[in-house]
Parts: sequence; structure tokens; C-alpha cells
Amino acid sequence: MNILSFDIEEWYLENMYFGNHAKKYHEFDCYLDQILDVLDERGFKGTFFCVGGMATEFPAVVKKIEGRGHEIGCHSYKHVWLNKMSRDEVYEDTRTAVDAIEQCIGKKVKSYRAPAFSIGKDNKWAFEILSKCGIERDSSVFPAERDFGGFSQFGQKAPTMTSYNKVKIKEFPISVTALFGKEVGYSGGGYFRFFPLGFVKKEMEKSDYTMTYFHIADLIPESNGLMNKEDFEAYFKIPGTLKNRCMRYVKSNLGKKGALGKLLKLIETENFVNLEQADAIINWDQQPSVVL
Ligand SMILES: [Zn+2]
Repeated sequence: MNILSFDIEEWYLENMYFGNHAKKYHEFDCYLDQILDVLDERGFKGTFFCVGGMATEFPAVVKKIEGRGHEIGCHSYKHVWLNKMSRDEVYEDTRTAVDAIEQCIGKKVKSYRAPAFSIGKDNKWAFEILSKCGIERDSSVFPAERDFGGFSQFGQKAPTMTSYNKVKIKEFPISVTALFGKEVGYSGGGYFRFFPLGFVKKEMEKSDYTMTYFHIADLIPESNGLMNKEDFEAYFKIPGTLKNRCMRYVKSNLGKKGALGKLLKLIETENFVNLEQADAIINWDQQPSVVL
């Protein structure tokens, strides 16, 4: 089973960091339209995790995606990483985001993904908050070590019934594979841009479950500039040394040129469902369960 998901945040982040740029929004719209068109051609539905700020500042984008029959999930309100917030702040952010999206689309939001997969062993209480906000499915766990966080202690790579303090959430972890003795991602973000399409397809075909994750920003060929120290520190909450900023520059620009073509080819040649459809197909009695 291959699950198709997108994180939708670019319009909101562009406006927050660089101000209102109609040209940029138009560019994002064009990429989104191409994806929606190829999904229509194939008859596939994806899950689009939108930040709450998209629902309030760019409701037409969220409504357009929903209007084409895709599932709208929640990707926090402001795209602040959950492990950089207190429990109260996470609750406030999640509640506000879910409310904003539900008001925008007139439907319940049941799927969630934290920005930068920022749920790990030190903030697993976030599951309790998600459940309190009506979330039933989560896809925030990156079940391996990662630059920023990761949740290697989660211990499962398949859809997993996850319990924490009496609440249950269906977890759809990000897919990882062993490479040179290390568990790495392959089905989204920088990993997808970096690996040849043949490698990604082979990994998908040998696995019972692949969770993909794409961003519009991954598909735009022009490089992002080097972030200035102030913005870098505000966003990543680590020192904005030249080395840290250069590393981020390389990672966020690697393989951008061919990424859109690769993604369109992947959608044309593999089969996909979204989280909502996957949830309905899965026999949860036969899936692993974890108590955190
Ligand atoms: Zn994101």
C-alpha cells in the first residue's frame, strides 16, 4: 500500500517571511494545479496536510484541494515544531489549526502531521492533545534517527495502533529503509529529491507500506537563497553559524531540478491511496500496536 501525502505551507510561510508576493503565490498555484491534474487523470486521492494559517489566509487554496476530492489534514497552525513548544502551546496551536481548517472546508479534520515530524520520545504527550482535538490518524513519526529529532524508539515501521495515557491514535509512520547500516527515508522531502527514481520505486515495490510526503517547495527548481542568521535562528532554534546555514542550504536545494518530473512519473506508474482510504482498508486487528 502506497500512501500519497503533501504538506501544504508555502503560501503561508512566504507571506510570513517575505511579505505578500503575488508572483510567488501564482508559482505555487501552478505546481499545485499540475499535481491535482495528474491525480485526477489517475483517479487517485491524496492527503494534503495544510497549516491552519493556509485556511485563514489562503482559504481558496485549501478549498480547491478539498473540492477536487482530496483529504485535508492538519499540519499545525504556524508550522512551529512541536518539540519547540510547551504542552499548552501545542494544545493552543492544534486546536486553533483544526478549528480554522474545519471552518474553511466545513468538514471534520481527522489526520495530522507535525511540522518536521517533531513528535518524539520527549513530547509523546502530543498524542493526547491530538486526540483531544479530534485527530484519529497521525503521520508525524519518523521512526529513525534524524538531523532534527526522529523517533527511533517508536519501534514500528507499519501503520500502528498507538496508545498513550488511555488515548489511541492510528499512527502512519514515515517509511525508512536500511542503507549503509543506517535507517534513512526515501519517499519524500530531501530523500526523494536525492535518490534516483528507480531506487525509490524499488523500495516501494518491495515494501507492504510506503508513506510518501511531498512539498511544493521540493519541486521548484530555483534554489532557495542562504538564510540570514536571524531568520535561521528564529526558525530552527539553533545557532545560525555559517556552517549550519550552509548545510541547510545544501539539503534544501539538493536534487530540486528533476523533482517535479520524478514525482509526476511516480504518480503515473505506481498506485496510491490517501490516509482516509488506507485507514478503511487496513485490518487494524492485524497491525502492530504500541503503548508509549
Ligand atoms: Zn511542513
